[in-house]
Amino acid sequence: MSVRELVVLGTASQVPTRHRNHNGYLLRWDGQGILFDPGEGTQRQMLRAGVAAHDLNRICVTHFHGDHSLGLAGVIQRINLDRVPHEVTAHYPKSGQHFFDRLRYATAYRETVRLTEAPVAADGVLAQAGGCTLEARRLSHPVESYGYRLTEPDGRRMLPDRLAAHGVKGPDVGRIQREGSLNGVSLDDVSEVRRGQRFAFVMDTRLCDGVHALADGCDLLVIESTFLDEDQQLAVEHGHLTAGQAAAVARDAGVRHLVLTHFSQRYSDPEEFERQARAAGYEGELTVAHDLLRVPVPKRR
Ligand SMILES: [Zn+2]
Repeated sequence: MSVRELVVLGTASQVPTRHRNHNGYLLRWDGQGILFDPGEGTQRQMLRAGVAAHDLNRICVTHFHGDHSLGLAGVIQRINLDRVPHEVTAHYPKSGQHFFDRLRYATAYRETVRLTEAPVAADGVLAQAGGCTLEARRLSHPVESYGYRLTEPDGRRMLPDRLAAHGVKGPDVGRIQREGSLNGVSLDDVSEVRRGQRFAFVMDTRLCDGVHALADGCDLLVIESTFLDEDQQLAVEHGHLTAGQAAAVARDAGVRHLVLTHFSQRYSDPEEFERQARAAGYEGELTVAHDLLRVPVPKRR
């Protein structure tokens, strides 16, 4: 059984609070694990969430501010301590290579794992991961920042009642799938498009083209909403989004499940983020994230 879910490890921007760790998110996707933006304390949050170093295949860092990357030192050392048997690939803005180097070699330890550095220097496809395409898009923040998106190609779902109605059975089912038609029956007659699933991770940014491109048609969108709408001026100045802005992006992009996170320590009532997101007209599933929450990727329609 394939599992596709988001495990929220931390939800605080800038400084952790009594209830929120620095950022950290694990996407489980068919046996692959992608760790996004490990802030300080991520190693311990992984323990609390039941995530092992062995679960990580890939690490994606949006940018080199501490709340998104200070956890690299601990996580990388833990991967090595646990002698993770598979390769782990790290993506991060190439302009921050010196930060990555320092975090990777922050203190002495024994390197036992193949950690491949795959920095991002432009928009585009990074890898094929578990049959899906991982791509990056430039965001707009005071330091270079990239959002990430995982796209599964569309497939086809065979419809048993239509197959029966057209008398297609046995090995002919495979033939019609391969050849597109058989004895005057087309593939469209006996199947429907099974839309691929889409996930995007959008952290520190102002509104920009990259945000919309990443969010487009997502089943699950994780997006920062550092500020409430009344502090929009602060958001613009510091390169962030408000709850209403993030929700409007999701609304326009047709997002099915919106996860808001990366909250400023200045706010104490998470429900206000939900109210403002709804006021912006977003009507899909909505989660105001908290630490150690698990969010399943919505079932296919
Ligand atoms: Zn941040």
